[in-house]
Amino acid sequence: MKSFFDLQKNSAVQWPLFLILIAIELLMSFSFLGYFHVEPISITFAYIPVLLAGCLLGPGASAALGCVFGLASMWKASAPYVAAGDRIFSPILSGEPISSLLLSVGSRLLFGLVIGILYFLAKRAKRGTLFWIGAVSFFGRTIHAFFVYGIMGLLFPQMGFHAFSAFSDILSPSGLATSFAAMLIVLVIYKLWNSAFFLRFQKRMQAVQNLHLTAHRSFLPGFIIAILTLSCSCAIALYFLQRMVYVLKVDGYSLSQTANYNLFHLQIQFLLGILSLVFLVSLFLLFVQRYTSYMRHEAKSDALTDVLNRHGFFPLCEHMLKTSAFQREGSGYFLILDIDYFKQVNDSLGHPKGDEILYKVAQGLRNIFSDSGIIGRLGGDEFAVLLYPPVSRERLEEKLSQFLETVRQIPCDGQNLSCSIGAVQVGTIRDIDELYRTADHYLYLAKNRGRDQFFIGEAGAVPAEGIACL
Ligand code: GH3
Ligand code: MG
Repeated sequence: MKSFFDLQKNSAVQWPLFLILIAIELLMSFSFLGYFHVEPISITFAYIPVLLAGCLLGPGASAALGCVFGLASMWKASAPYVAAGDRIFSPILSGEPISSLLLSVGSRLLFGLVIGILYFLAKRAKRGTLFWIGAVSFFGRTIHAFFVYGIMGLLFPQMGFHAFSAFSDILSPSGLATSFAAMLIVLVIYKLWNSAFFLRFQKRMQAVQNLHLTAHRSFLPGFIIAILTLSCSCAIALYFLQRMVYVLKVDGYSLSQTANYNLFHLQIQFLLGILSLVFLVSLFLLFVQRYTSYMRHEAKSDALTDVLNRHGFFPLCEHMLKTSAFQREGSGYFLILDIDYFKQVNDSLGHPKGDEILYKVAQGLRNIFSDSGIIGRLGGDEFAVLLYPPVSRERLEEKLSQFLETVRQIPCDGQNLSCSIGAVQVGTIRDIDELYRTADHYLYLAKNRGRDQFFIGEAGAVPAEGIACL
């Protein structure tokens, strides 16, 4: 079943997308980007990130986005300059803090959760997924209004609204324009997100994360840069506020305490908007860097089989063996795989057919090991895999048996195709040359014992202590 909370599915892209939507939500809430007004139409975009989170990431994410949406609106409603009717959204100004909190944040959280569940159901529809997604997006505005007015009717009945007030302007020019805009935006982004281009991009970014392709930096520099950015932005905002008050004073306007506070309140909104923008730009740069890393990695691929070539494989193994994942003793395995009697296959069926078989063997390796290991072609009919932890011995045996069976099933014009495998556990020694030598020795044992089998041993142990498995 598709995950109800989609964030774990592709953590390299889903989590950044979630953070991007939060930043966009703040940017929209604290700027004109969230509201578009041309007489007689006014369109509110600020709830659209909640729709996108629900559609692309699931109900958990859209509920969280709803919460951010609610907090932003609560902050905006908490300045003395806001219209009297809006004060009920502010726990500070309304005099009923709990009710205002429930109205501002609670209603949006509920909206996010419900919209996420509706998208979840729309995507599970057997037919017309796009239609249902479009419908949920179109009515998103009304669903949002339904919760806000509903809770308002319950907690602030004096305002004269109730849940069904949400339907009053559904056919107004602004209502229709907003609903159509939301539907269009969500559908276009949903289609893009699921396009071949983006799916490939998501896979590549996941590979960058799985393979630790970007150099590992410590947490400290990022933290220091974040603190510096925050401090500098605060300094700029406060300076600007102070200058504004000064300029007004020079012109003879002496500001009351309330007016001063109003300006301060607006400066905080400006600050949050700018910080969201800085965050979005940083994430963009991070993705450019990751993409470049991936492209560099791809340049080290073997053209025939699409797995890493020797020059790409060994340095990456060396790098991986230094990462924390391998620091525990006895974690991970290094495998060498060699096709049995491949010369004969070439001689009898020709090299083009041999090439095809090499590609299918690599494909089998990718299917079985690519989610948890690095795969390389060392040359000729020899492949290698570094399986990173956690891999139990039983799981490894299962995977190797599955792979041997895959090779046996590769069509070979009536001939039997098989493969032999030497596997060594990555022990205290994490030197790639030594792992290679040892695995090669176990491969030799597997070949000697009749081929079409694997032999698993330990680094540094006497090779004969390994166990052969047919
Ligand atoms: P063994 O069971 O001992 O491994 O026997 P083998 O015949 O497979 O011997 P070996 O592994 O030494 O042979 C590798 C063969 O792979 C030699 C060469 O003909 C073939 N080969 C190497 N590179 C390529 C290639 O790019 N394409 C094709 N089709 N064949 C290749
Ligand atoms: Mg061979």
